[in-house]
Amino acid sequence: MPADRGPRFDTLAVVGSYDHEEALAHQGAVCEPAYLSPSQHFASSDHMRAVLLGQAPGWTYGRLDNPTVAQLEATIARLDAYGSDVPVTTTAFSSGMAAIFMTTTALLADDPERPRPNVVLPAACYGGTYMLFTQRFAVDRGVELRWVRDALDLQQWADAIDELTRFAFCEVPSNPHLRMTDIPALAEIAHSRGVPLVVDATLPSPALLRPLTMGADIVVHSVSKAMSASGMSIAGAVSSRADIVCTHRRREMRADFAGFLKRGPRRDTGVVLSPFNAFVTSADLRGLRARMETMSRSALRVAKTLAAHSFVEEVFYPGLEGDPGHAIAERDLVLVDSEVETGVPVNAYGYMLSLRPRGGEVAACAFLDALRLVWRANDLGRVKSTATIPSIATHSQLSRAEKALADVPPDLVRISIGCEHVDDILEDLEQALNAANGAAS
Ligand SMILES: *Cc1c(COP(=O)(O)O)cnc(C)c1O
Repeated sequence: MPADRGPRFDTLAVVGSYDHEEALAHQGAVCEPAYLSPSQHFASSDHMRAVLLGQAPGWTYGRLDNPTVAQLEATIARLDAYGSDVPVTTTAFSSGMAAIFMTTTALLADDPERPRPNVVLPAACYGGTYMLFTQRFAVDRGVELRWVRDALDLQQWADAIDELTRFAFCEVPSNPHLRMTDIPALAEIAHSRGVPLVVDATLPSPALLRPLTMGADIVVHSVSKAMSASGMSIAGAVSSRADIVCTHRRREMRADFAGFLKRGPRRDTGVVLSPFNAFVTSADLRGLRARMETMSRSALRVAKTLAAHSFVEEVFYPGLEGDPGHAIAERDLVLVDSEVETGVPVNAYGYMLSLRPRGGEVAACAFLDALRLVWRANDLGRVKSTATIPSIATHSQLSRAEKALADVPPDLVRISIGCEHVDDILEDLEQALNAANGAAS
């Protein structure tokens, strides 16, 4: 890296866009104030006119913009662009699903020259995303969904993407199977047909993966997860690189996709992030890298222990050598700035893993019921460890056939490893596996 590389990841996460000068303009407060006011007072009619015309800085009204939300957006943009010179803009939304909905809806806008739009994505994705695509787009609007069965198989993507494809979409790694996708190679395939690549990078967060620096056009985050790890808020964000690959007629949308969402669709629909949630999230974001390091290290130990356990059928974790996506995970899931301390990049494979306990659905339920430290809950990436059974929770709305398509068997347990001491987590999982084994035999 060049010497003039600018502040490192941790510094950006801690400082955000609030520096000494900003602090002096706010009574010297070291921590940025939270602006909960819904509207801005103007000095004069001239001032009001100038702000509304975009000729002077300002935010006007909380549905359009807010200083506290804008600070979070500026910080996430810098983290998503980190280590590259890719120009990145970020817009925050009320949830991860709002971010995904607003992104995909804009890309699916009517275009008389390209009727019968299709989108290409793996069926093995987050349950909320699956429902959005099947119900809101396929059923309600007649959008053709082209499912990719194996997100690692580039030929399947290449066969499915054509000139009527509005975007290719993938989660890396996917929820709940932790499947990898080769982002640079997929971006090349999509771009060769003029199609943008949208990546849901919720699980790794910018501390482990920054798809915009690897060829992706748009990144969506559920900021509710690893980025707001203390678990006090729900939030979403869309980050985009300048001049995305896209044949949409609106030039403004291609030039600054996330900025366009902020100035147009977010304002017109009101799916803005609340300033209070932005404030809580900004505070959480400060310790992101250290948290991801601890949680990933613990998760790798848990995955290895479970994979060798006689009461466990199968473990899914990209950090395991036998995992089909391991080679790509080794290349792409790297703890940011790890080479600064050790001279070599260090892999961190994330905090999520899934397993199938021996004994089928009965054992999976008994395992979940026996947990004493790990919470039976459906969020992830937080400081508190959680476990769930996707087929009865995150994917409960899917039919039996859809669960088969999305590869969500009834005995699959998903675990998100938090910041408790790993030995305490392992003890809890061990006693729960014993209980599961007793219930199944
Ligand atoms: C949770 C999650 C979402 C949805 O985010 P919300 O903030 O709950 O709306 C989307 N994608 C992935 C991968 C998730 O884990």
